[in-house]
Amino acid sequence: MMNFEELDPTTRKWILDEFNAEQSQTPHFEPTELNPIGLAAFPDLMRQAIQHDNIASLAASLSNSSYWKPTRTYYRKGKPITQNIDPTTSAQRLAHSEFTTWYTRGMARKLKEEGITQCQVYRADSAVQPNCECTSLEGNTVSVDEIYNGHRAKYFPTPNQGAFSIPSSPFCHHTIRRLTV
Ligand SMILES: [Zn+2]
Repeated sequence: MMNFEELDPTTRKWILDEFNAEQSQTPHFEPTELNPIGLAAFPDLMRQAIQHDNIASLAASLSNSSYWKPTRTYYRKGKPITQNIDPTTSAQRLAHSEFTTWYTRGMARKLKEEGITQCQVYRADSAVQPNCECTSLEGNTVSVDEIYNGHRAKYFPTPNQGAFSIPSSPFCHHTIRRLTV
């Protein structure tokens, strides 16, 4: 289970503030595997999780099969491959990546509001294959502004795989903590 060390009411408030700011922008990020019903439900499910819950309850609420497209298409060596979407698996993946993305953004915002400019990267959960690109940054001190501005930087609004971002992929288990003196 992801250990979000400072998921207190103040952090949740800043996460919600950031989430609502993103939702008010056009266009904003929307999960491509959700159908129109799922996309309509998604913002309030996120708000519920941000204010009161966690990844597990978000995954449970997202696993409603009426929210998901039947298939997804991805490309391998230029060839389209179509795969059935399993709502339970996809809900777990989406809940993990979105909640981690938002915790990191909101925590960076909280530190910025306190005038803090540096923070530390840490692994918030073990992983079967702990090899995401920020593994080399574990324990490192990084700029709060860089973390804040790295929000979705690899894939939205335009794909940019070279951008600095934590979490660095949908499977990343990294986020940030405040530095202790
Ligand atoms: Zn990572």
